[in-house]
Amino acid sequence: MNPTPAPTTLVTNIGSLVTNTPGTGDCATPLGLLHDAAVVMAGGRFVWAGPAARAPEADERYDAGGRAAIPGFVDSHSHLVFAGDRTAEFNARMSGHAYRAGGIRTTVAATRAATDDELDANITRYLTEALRQGTTTFETKSGYGLTVEDEARALRIAARHTDETTYLGAHIVAPEYADDPAGYVDLVTGPMLDACAPHARWVDVFCEKGAFDGDQARAILTAGAARGLVPRVHANQLGHGPGVQLAVELNAASADHCTHLTDADVDALANGTTVATLLPGAEFSTRADWPDARRLLAAGATVALSTDCNPGSSFTSSMPFCIALAVRDMGMTPDEALWSATAGGAAALRRTDIGRISVGARADLALLDAPSHVHLAYRPGVPLVREVWRAGIRADFGN
Ligand SMILES: [Zn+2]
Repeated sequence: MNPTPAPTTLVTNIGSLVTNTPGTGDCATPLGLLHDAAVVMAGGRFVWAGPAARAPEADERYDAGGRAAIPGFVDSHSHLVFAGDRTAEFNARMSGHAYRAGGIRTTVAATRAATDDELDANITRYLTEALRQGTTTFETKSGYGLTVEDEARALRIAARHTDETTYLGAHIVAPEYADDPAGYVDLVTGPMLDACAPHARWVDVFCEKGAFDGDQARAILTAGAARGLVPRVHANQLGHGPGVQLAVELNAASADHCTHLTDADVDALANGTTVATLLPGAEFSTRADWPDARRLLAAGATVALSTDCNPGSSFTSSMPFCIALAVRDMGMTPDEALWSATAGGAAALRRTDIGRISVGARADLALLDAPSHVHLAYRPGVPLVREVWRAGIRADFGN
Protein backbone atom coordinates (compact mmCIF):
# COMPACT_ATOMS: atom_id res chain seq x y z
CA MET A 1 0.00 0.00 0.00
CA ASN A 2 1.45 3.38 -1.01
CA PRO A 3 1.34 6.15 1.60
CA THR A 4 -0.65 9.26 0.61
CA PRO A 5 1.81 11.74 -0.94
CA ALA A 6 2.41 14.89 1.11
CA PRO A 7 0.64 18.00 -0.24
CA THR A 8 2.95 20.23 -2.28
CA THR A 9 3.33 24.01 -1.93
CA LEU A 10 4.72 26.14 -4.75
CA VAL A 11 6.23 29.55 -3.97
CA THR A 12 6.65 31.24 -7.33
CA ASN A 13 7.44 34.62 -8.87
CA ILE A 14 10.50 35.00 -6.60
CA GLY A 15 12.49 37.92 -8.05
CA SER A 16 15.82 36.71 -6.69
CA LEU A 17 16.45 33.52 -4.75
CA VAL A 18 19.54 32.81 -2.65
CA THR A 19 20.05 29.03 -2.70
CA ASN A 20 23.56 28.75 -1.18
CA THR A 21 24.00 25.93 -3.66
CA PRO A 22 26.94 26.85 -5.88
CA GLY A 23 26.48 25.96 -9.50
CA THR A 24 22.71 26.37 -9.24
CA GLY A 25 22.49 30.02 -10.09
CA ASP A 26 23.01 32.34 -12.98
CA CYS A 27 25.84 34.17 -11.16
CA ALA A 28 29.15 32.65 -10.15
CA THR A 29 28.86 33.29 -6.39
CA PRO A 30 28.62 30.92 -3.44
CA LEU A 31 25.06 32.22 -3.02
CA GLY A 32 23.85 30.29 -6.08
CA LEU A 33 21.56 33.20 -6.95
CA LEU A 34 18.54 32.46 -9.19
CA HIS A 35 16.33 35.14 -10.78
CA ASP A 36 12.61 34.69 -11.60
CA ALA A 37 12.66 31.54 -9.51
CA ALA A 38 10.30 29.18 -7.73
CA VAL A 39 10.52 26.47 -5.07
CA VAL A 40 8.28 23.55 -4.23
CA MET A 41 8.00 22.17 -0.69
CA ALA A 42 6.48 18.89 0.48
CA GLY A 43 6.71 16.97 3.72
CA GLY A 44 8.79 19.73 5.30
CA ARG A 45 11.52 19.59 2.61
CA PHE A 46 12.32 21.34 -0.63
CA VAL A 47 11.46 18.98 -3.47
CA TRP A 48 12.16 21.34 -6.37
CA ALA A 49 13.93 24.70 -7.02
CA GLY A 50 14.53 26.40 -10.35
CA PRO A 51 13.21 28.89 -12.91
CA ALA A 52 9.58 29.88 -12.28
CA ALA A 53 8.74 29.23 -15.93
CA ARG A 54 9.56 25.56 -15.48
CA ALA A 55 7.95 25.05 -12.06
CA PRO A 56 5.75 21.96 -11.69
CA GLU A 57 2.10 22.10 -10.62
CA ALA A 58 1.43 21.98 -6.87
CA ASP A 59 -1.52 21.63 -4.50
CA GLU A 60 -1.03 25.15 -3.09
CA ARG A 61 0.43 28.23 -4.77
CA TYR A 62 1.92 31.38 -3.22
CA ASP A 63 2.85 34.33 -5.44
CA ALA A 64 5.95 36.11 -4.09
CA GLY A 65 5.25 39.16 -6.23
CA GLY A 66 8.83 39.50 -7.47
CA ARG A 67 10.29 39.73 -3.96
CA ALA A 68 13.64 38.26 -2.87
CA ALA A 69 13.78 34.99 -0.92
CA ILE A 70 16.58 33.50 1.15
CA PRO A 71 17.10 30.38 3.28
CA GLY A 72 15.87 30.91 6.86
CA PHE A 73 18.61 32.28 9.10
CA VAL A 74 20.62 29.85 11.23
CA ASP A 75 21.42 31.54 14.54
CA SER A 76 24.12 29.27 15.91
CA HIS A 77 24.77 31.13 19.20
CA SER A 78 22.23 32.41 21.71
CA HIS A 79 21.54 32.36 25.46
CA LEU A 80 17.76 32.34 25.78
CA VAL A 81 17.05 30.47 29.01
CA PHE A 82 17.15 33.35 31.45
CA ALA A 83 14.98 35.63 33.54
CA GLY A 84 15.30 39.27 34.46
CA ASP A 85 16.65 42.29 32.74
CA ARG A 86 19.90 44.26 32.66
CA THR A 87 18.74 47.60 31.38
CA ALA A 88 20.52 49.43 34.21
CA GLU A 89 23.84 47.75 33.38
CA PHE A 90 23.51 48.64 29.69
CA ASN A 91 22.62 52.18 30.57
CA ALA A 92 25.64 52.46 32.87
CA ARG A 93 27.95 50.93 30.27
CA MET A 94 26.75 53.35 27.62
CA SER A 95 27.61 56.06 30.14
CA GLY A 96 31.26 55.01 30.13
CA HIS A 97 31.72 51.91 32.33
CA ALA A 98 33.61 48.86 30.95
CA TYR A 99 31.91 45.47 30.33
CA ARG A 100 33.12 42.67 32.62
CA ALA A 101 32.09 39.02 32.68
CA GLY A 102 30.81 39.36 36.29
CA GLY A 103 27.54 41.01 35.22
CA ILE A 104 26.33 37.50 34.38
CA ARG A 105 25.75 36.96 38.13
CA THR A 106 22.76 39.30 38.04
CA THR A 107 21.04 37.09 35.49
CA VAL A 108 22.05 33.94 37.38
CA ALA A 109 20.21 35.17 40.49
CA ALA A 110 17.07 36.08 38.51
CA THR A 111 17.10 32.80 36.57
CA ARG A 112 17.43 30.65 39.69
CA ALA A 113 14.47 32.48 41.22
CA ALA A 114 12.23 31.99 38.16
CA THR A 115 9.72 29.17 37.73
CA ASP A 116 9.92 26.73 34.82
CA ASP A 117 6.85 28.38 33.30
CA GLU A 118 8.45 31.82 33.49
CA LEU A 119 11.61 30.58 31.78
CA ASP A 120 9.60 28.80 29.10
CA ALA A 121 7.48 31.87 28.45
CA ASN A 122 10.62 33.98 28.12
CA ILE A 123 12.35 31.71 25.57
CA THR A 124 9.08 31.40 23.64
CA ARG A 125 8.82 35.17 23.43
CA TYR A 126 12.33 35.63 22.05
CA LEU A 127 11.99 32.75 19.61
CA THR A 128 8.80 34.24 18.23
CA GLU A 129 10.62 37.54 17.86
CA ALA A 130 13.49 35.79 16.03
CA LEU A 131 11.17 33.81 13.73
CA ARG A 132 9.45 37.02 12.71
CA GLN A 133 12.90 38.26 11.64
CA GLY A 134 13.58 35.16 9.57
CA THR A 135 15.40 32.82 11.98
CA THR A 136 14.30 29.23 11.45
CA THR A 137 17.06 27.41 13.37
CA PHE A 138 18.73 28.46 16.58
CA GLU A 139 21.15 27.05 19.09
CA THR A 140 20.79 28.00 22.74
CA LYS A 141 22.73 27.42 25.94
CA SER A 142 22.41 26.88 29.65
CA GLY A 143 24.75 28.99 31.77
CA TYR A 144 22.52 31.10 34.02
CA GLY A 145 21.84 28.35 36.55
CA LEU A 146 25.32 27.23 37.63
CA THR A 147 24.00 24.55 39.98
CA VAL A 148 23.46 20.92 38.98
CA GLU A 149 19.67 21.22 39.03
CA ASP A 150 19.44 24.73 37.54
CA GLU A 151 21.71 23.87 34.60
CA ALA A 152 19.83 20.63 33.88
CA ARG A 153 16.53 22.52 34.14
CA ALA A 154 17.70 25.13 31.62
CA LEU A 155 18.63 22.42 29.13
CA ARG A 156 15.36 20.55 29.62
CA ILE A 157 13.47 23.76 28.85
CA ALA A 158 15.71 24.61 25.87
CA ALA A 159 15.27 21.10 24.44
CA ARG A 160 11.50 21.69 24.18
CA HIS A 161 12.31 24.31 21.54
CA THR A 162 15.44 23.12 19.69
CA ASP A 163 17.72 20.12 19.13
CA GLU A 164 20.71 22.46 19.22
CA THR A 165 21.23 22.69 22.98
CA THR A 166 24.55 23.53 24.59
CA TYR A 167 25.76 22.79 28.10
CA LEU A 168 27.46 25.96 29.37
CA GLY A 169 27.87 25.22 33.08
CA ALA A 170 31.25 26.91 32.56
CA HIS A 171 29.81 30.35 31.79
CA ILE A 172 31.37 31.85 34.92
CA VAL A 173 32.43 30.31 38.22
CA ALA A 174 29.25 30.00 40.32
CA PRO A 175 29.13 32.62 43.10
CA GLU A 176 29.19 29.86 45.73
CA TYR A 177 32.60 28.75 44.41
CA ALA A 178 34.18 32.21 44.13
CA ASP A 179 37.03 31.11 46.42
CA ASP A 180 37.29 27.61 44.95
CA PRO A 181 37.31 27.73 41.14
CA ALA A 182 38.98 24.30 40.97
CA GLY A 183 36.07 22.88 42.97
CA TYR A 184 33.66 24.42 40.49
CA VAL A 185 35.49 22.86 37.55
CA ASP A 186 35.17 19.51 39.35
CA LEU A 187 31.42 20.08 39.64
CA VAL A 188 31.10 21.10 35.96
CA THR A 189 33.06 18.06 34.78
CA GLY A 190 31.39 15.70 37.29
CA PRO A 191 27.85 15.73 38.71
CA MET A 192 26.68 18.71 36.64
CA LEU A 193 27.85 17.07 33.42
CA ASP A 194 26.09 13.84 34.44
CA ALA A 195 22.81 15.73 34.89
CA CYS A 196 23.15 17.85 31.72
CA ALA A 197 24.65 15.52 29.11
CA PRO A 198 21.34 13.73 28.35
CA HIS A 199 19.74 17.06 27.36
CA ALA A 200 22.59 18.60 25.33
CA ARG A 201 24.28 18.16 21.97
CA TRP A 202 27.19 20.55 22.61
CA VAL A 203 29.55 21.57 25.43
CA ASP A 204 30.81 25.15 25.66
CA VAL A 205 33.10 27.17 27.93
CA PHE A 206 33.66 30.90 28.38
CA CYS A 207 37.46 30.89 27.96
CA GLU A 208 38.34 34.41 29.04
CA LYS A 209 40.07 36.36 31.81
CA GLY A 210 37.55 36.53 34.66
CA ALA A 211 35.92 33.26 33.57
CA PHE A 212 37.96 30.11 32.74
CA ASP A 213 41.62 29.82 31.69
CA GLY A 214 43.02 27.50 29.02
CA ASP A 215 43.71 24.56 31.34
CA GLN A 216 40.26 24.74 32.93
CA ALA A 217 38.61 25.10 29.51
CA ARG A 218 40.50 22.06 28.21
CA ALA A 219 39.40 19.95 31.19
CA ILE A 220 35.75 20.98 30.72
CA LEU A 221 35.64 20.46 26.94
CA THR A 222 37.48 17.14 27.16
CA ALA A 223 35.12 15.85 29.87
CA GLY A 224 32.12 16.89 27.76
CA ALA A 225 33.56 15.24 24.65
CA ALA A 226 34.05 12.01 26.60
CA ARG A 227 30.28 12.07 27.20
CA GLY A 228 29.53 12.55 23.50
CA LEU A 229 29.05 16.34 23.56
CA VAL A 230 30.82 18.21 20.75
CA PRO A 231 32.87 21.24 21.85
CA ARG A 232 32.27 24.87 20.92
CA VAL A 233 34.10 27.71 22.67
CA HIS A 234 33.53 31.33 23.69
CA ALA A 235 36.99 32.46 22.59
CA ASN A 236 39.03 35.66 22.36
CA GLN A 237 36.16 38.09 22.99
CA LEU A 238 37.68 40.52 25.45
CA GLY A 239 41.37 40.00 24.69
CA HIS A 240 43.97 37.64 23.28
CA GLY A 241 43.95 34.19 24.88
CA PRO A 242 44.16 30.45 24.36
CA GLY A 243 40.50 29.89 23.39
CA VAL A 244 40.80 29.83 19.60
CA GLN A 245 43.86 27.57 19.56
CA LEU A 246 42.20 25.22 22.02
CA ALA A 247 39.01 25.11 19.94
CA VAL A 248 40.91 24.17 16.78
CA GLU A 249 43.07 21.64 18.61
CA LEU A 250 40.00 19.91 20.07
CA ASN A 251 38.20 20.00 16.71
CA ALA A 252 35.45 22.19 18.14
CA ALA A 253 32.57 22.93 15.78
CA SER A 254 32.97 26.64 16.36
CA ALA A 255 35.09 29.30 18.05
CA ASP A 256 32.72 32.12 18.91
CA HIS A 257 33.53 35.86 19.13
CA CYS A 258 37.09 35.77 17.64
CA THR A 259 37.43 39.49 18.26
CA HIS A 260 41.09 39.54 19.32
CA LEU A 261 43.15 37.23 17.09
CA THR A 262 46.88 36.80 16.53
CA ASP A 263 48.16 35.76 13.11
CA ALA A 264 48.64 32.25 14.56
CA ASP A 265 44.96 32.20 15.63
CA VAL A 266 43.85 33.19 12.13
CA ASP A 267 46.12 30.52 10.59
CA ALA A 268 44.73 27.89 12.95
CA LEU A 269 41.13 28.74 12.00
CA ALA A 270 41.98 28.80 8.28
CA ASN A 271 43.67 25.40 8.43
CA GLY A 272 41.35 23.61 10.87
CA THR A 273 37.74 22.43 10.78
CA THR A 274 36.52 24.96 13.37
CA VAL A 275 34.16 27.68 12.12
CA ALA A 276 34.85 31.26 13.26
CA THR A 277 31.50 32.59 14.52
CA LEU A 278 31.37 36.37 14.76
CA LEU A 279 28.84 38.03 17.08
CA PRO A 280 28.73 41.73 16.24
CA GLY A 281 25.76 42.37 18.55
CA ALA A 282 28.21 41.93 21.44
CA GLU A 283 30.66 44.52 20.13
CA PHE A 284 27.76 46.86 19.40
CA SER A 285 26.28 46.48 22.89
CA THR A 286 29.59 46.75 24.71
CA ARG A 287 30.97 49.48 22.44
CA ALA A 288 34.01 47.31 21.73
CA ASP A 289 36.28 46.95 18.69
CA TRP A 290 34.78 44.92 15.84
CA PRO A 291 36.09 41.48 14.87
CA ASP A 292 37.91 41.59 11.53
CA ALA A 293 35.87 39.36 9.25
CA ARG A 294 37.86 40.42 6.18
CA ARG A 295 41.09 39.10 7.69
CA LEU A 296 39.50 35.72 8.45
CA LEU A 297 37.91 35.42 5.02
CA ALA A 298 41.14 36.43 3.27
CA ALA A 299 42.96 33.68 5.15
CA GLY A 300 40.36 31.10 4.08
CA ALA A 301 38.50 30.57 7.37
CA THR A 302 34.79 29.64 7.37
CA VAL A 303 32.88 32.50 9.00
CA ALA A 304 29.43 32.38 10.60
CA LEU A 305 27.38 35.29 11.90
CA SER A 306 25.13 34.96 14.92
CA THR A 307 23.28 37.15 17.44
CA ASP A 308 24.67 35.92 20.79
CA CYS A 309 21.23 36.99 22.03
CA ASN A 310 21.50 37.39 25.82
CA PRO A 311 20.33 39.99 28.33
CA GLY A 312 23.80 41.23 29.29
CA SER A 313 26.04 41.83 26.32
CA SER A 314 23.94 41.47 23.15
CA PHE A 315 20.21 41.76 23.60
CA THR A 316 19.22 41.42 19.95
CA SER A 317 17.51 38.48 18.28
CA SER A 318 17.88 40.07 14.85
CA MET A 319 20.06 38.37 12.25
CA PRO A 320 19.37 41.20 9.76
CA PHE A 321 20.82 43.65 12.29
CA CYS A 322 23.98 41.50 12.60
CA ILE A 323 24.27 41.36 8.81
CA ALA A 324 24.08 45.15 8.61
CA LEU A 325 26.81 45.53 11.25
CA ALA A 326 29.03 42.95 9.56
CA VAL A 327 28.78 44.76 6.24
CA ARG A 328 29.16 48.24 7.65
CA ASP A 329 31.92 47.62 10.18
CA MET A 330 33.58 44.23 9.70
CA GLY A 331 34.57 44.29 6.06
CA MET A 332 32.06 41.74 4.78
CA THR A 333 30.29 42.10 1.45
CA PRO A 334 26.48 41.79 1.56
CA ASP A 335 26.80 38.39 -0.17
CA GLU A 336 29.34 37.13 2.36
CA ALA A 337 27.27 38.33 5.32
CA LEU A 338 24.13 36.63 3.99
CA TRP A 339 26.03 33.38 3.42
CA SER A 340 27.53 33.52 6.93
CA ALA A 341 24.10 34.10 8.53
CA THR A 342 22.61 31.06 6.78
CA ALA A 343 25.05 28.45 5.40
CA GLY A 344 27.79 29.65 7.77
CA GLY A 345 25.55 29.10 10.79
CA ALA A 346 24.68 25.66 9.47
CA ALA A 347 28.41 24.86 9.19
CA ALA A 348 28.91 26.01 12.79
CA LEU A 349 26.24 23.48 13.81
CA ARG A 350 27.66 20.84 11.47
CA ARG A 351 24.37 20.67 9.59
CA THR A 352 23.92 20.23 5.84
CA ASP A 353 20.11 20.06 5.86
CA ILE A 354 19.56 23.75 6.70
CA GLY A 355 20.89 27.13 5.53
CA ARG A 356 20.44 26.26 1.86
CA ILE A 357 17.72 25.77 -0.69
CA SER A 358 18.26 22.52 -2.50
CA VAL A 359 16.27 19.34 -2.98
CA GLY A 360 16.16 17.44 0.31
CA ALA A 361 17.02 20.40 2.54
CA ARG A 362 14.54 21.44 5.23
CA ALA A 363 12.01 23.86 3.71
CA ASP A 364 13.06 26.99 5.63
CA LEU A 365 12.43 30.09 3.54
CA ALA A 366 12.22 33.81 4.30
CA LEU A 367 10.57 36.16 1.85
CA LEU A 368 11.80 39.78 1.97
CA ASP A 369 9.87 42.93 1.20
CA ALA A 370 12.74 43.86 -1.11
CA PRO A 371 13.99 42.98 -4.59
CA SER A 372 17.35 41.66 -3.31
CA HIS A 373 18.98 40.18 -0.20
CA VAL A 374 21.40 43.14 -0.37
CA HIS A 375 18.64 45.27 1.16
CA LEU A 376 19.23 43.54 4.51
CA ALA A 377 22.37 45.68 4.84
CA TYR A 378 21.28 48.53 2.56
CA ARG A 379 18.13 49.21 4.63
CA PRO A 380 19.32 48.57 8.22
CA GLY A 381 16.71 48.48 10.95
CA VAL A 382 13.80 48.10 8.55
CA PRO A 383 11.61 45.01 9.14
CA LEU A 384 12.00 43.49 5.67
CA VAL A 385 11.01 39.90 6.47
CA ARG A 386 7.46 39.49 5.15
CA GLU A 387 6.81 35.74 5.29
CA VAL A 388 8.63 32.78 6.82
CA TRP A 389 8.22 29.06 6.15
CA ARG A 390 9.80 26.70 8.67
CA ALA A 391 9.95 23.03 7.66
CA GLY A 392 7.42 23.90 4.96
CA ILE A 393 4.91 25.52 7.32
CA ARG A 394 4.13 29.20 6.84
CA ALA A 395 4.43 31.12 10.11
CA ASP A 396 1.33 32.91 11.28
CA PHE A 397 2.40 36.32 12.56
CA GLY A 398 -1.20 37.34 13.14
CA ASN A 399 -0.92 40.05 10.49
ZN1 LIG B 1 27.66 33.79 24.09
